[in-house]
Amino acid sequence: MVANKDLEAGEEILTETPFVVGPKPSTYPLCLSCYTAWPPTLNDKPLCSKCGWPVCSTECENQPQHKDYECQIFARVNEKFNVAAALEEANENGVPQLECITPLRLLLELEKSPERWNNEVKQMEAHNKKRSEKEHWKSDQVNVAAYLRNQLKLERFSEEQIQTACGILEINAFELRTANGYCARALYPILAMMNHCCVSNTCHSISPTDFRVRLRTTVKVPLAGELYGSYTHSLLPTMLRREQLLAGKYFACACPRCADPTELGTHVSSLKCNKCDNGIVMSLDSLDPDSTWKCTHCEFTTSGAAVRKVLQIIQAEVDAVETISGAAGADAIQERETVMKKYRSVLHPHHAFNTMLRHSLTQMYGRVDEYLLDDLPDVVLEHKIDMCHLLLQVLDVIEPGYSRIRGMTLYELHAPLLFVAKTQWNAGLLNESGLKSKMIDAAGILKEAATILCLEAEDTPEGQIGLVAKDSLAQLEESISNL
Ligand SMILES: [Zn+2]
Ligand SMILES: [Zn+2]
Ligand SMILES: [Zn+2]
Ligand SMILES: [Zn+2]
Repeated sequence: MVANKDLEAGEEILTETPFVVGPKPSTYPLCLSCYTAWPPTLNDKPLCSKCGWPVCSTECENQPQHKDYECQIFARVNEKFNVAAALEEANENGVPQLECITPLRLLLELEKSPERWNNEVKQMEAHNKKRSEKEHWKSDQVNVAAYLRNQLKLERFSEEQIQTACGILEINAFELRTANGYCARALYPILAMMNHCCVSNTCHSISPTDFRVRLRTTVKVPLAGELYGSYTHSLLPTMLRREQLLAGKYFACACPRCADPTELGTHVSSLKCNKCDNGIVMSLDSLDPDSTWKCTHCEFTTSGAAVRKVLQIIQAEVDAVETISGAAGADAIQERETVMKKYRSVLHPHHAFNTMLRHSLTQMYGRVDEYLLDDLPDVVLEHKIDMCHLLLQVLDVIEPGYSRIRGMTLYELHAPLLFVAKTQWNAGLLNESGLKSKMIDAAGILKEAATILCLEAEDTPEGQIGLVAKDSLAQLEESISNL
């Protein structure tokens, strides 16, 4: 996908409605219309009156995406949702009976909109050959292909057609978040045509209400310049990003970021040498996962396999605090600080794991109980400022320009800058013109944050912060002009 004219940063490129929306694979029990976890309460297990599958209300039962699709199929063959099996078993890999929903919707949509299917969807990559060598293929064969053909009597779809639908979804679907904060997946045929790069120049946002996607640039793109999206989490080190892309999207990324052991100078993959003082340990060939890693200052070397082990151990600890622990407030902050401290002598200060934890911490300091901005002593405010600066040094390279994460980080940075300036002024450490210049700096940062976040839809959390940022900026500019 290339630009057909010079594009400014933040310019909208396309907007598109999904071809199909449905539950993600390996899902927990959920409402088939709004994807909210089901049942709503332990004593209330509402089922669709027509098909007997989980919904949360009559309203959800009557939503077209359920009513006009699987509902009719289930009702015709009288195939009910097995509530006991879905709730009682230890469903580590999700509820098998729900695996069929999204592929089935895709196949039914094929029949409803043959033209859009032929023009936009048919040629999408399904990688059936590579997928057929994997475990997941076998479970799709049982839970989707055989289930649709035997249980649901849909012999009109061949096994190959069904596997292709599963593959198209696995490789091309995007994750979205509903207004209630639940996840689902959707297929956007035009958006899916965009190539991947680990430093993208676009960013997409999906409306939590109607699931329309909007794609915009994050940096300037010249006429005929290629547009790239990112299919992976940009705050991961090269080795893990490339493993994820190979396993989920079936290609070995060789983008400029992946090809550079320093990750474009950010050192997001680099480790510290424990055999000398200032050495940094990096892969000699970052496109070869088995390549040797070597210190920049001494003769120390280690194997790719050893590095992968270290990454796995630390990643488990990062995941534990980021997604599993569920700690809130001060505990959530402490857990993250502890992990960062523990690996201070192992990871480069800019390492992906530090960057990830720093990203969470900058969103927490000033926002959670016992750490509200008004309560923070200057030393903690300075700590938050330092973390935002360190984070931005990395983001300026790997998430450049008008990316959401830069917008949010700039927003987090402006407030402690103002607070510190105010206490310094109160303590007589800063004169009026010193105060004014610090306020002008903070206003510049807030302005960029507002510009970026106002590009987001108003029904998203980032879009809401964008509006707040815009108001705060107007007030701050007024205070500055009154000084
Ligand atoms: Zn619902
Ligand atoms: Zn139904
Ligand atoms: Zn890459
Ligand atoms: Zn060394």
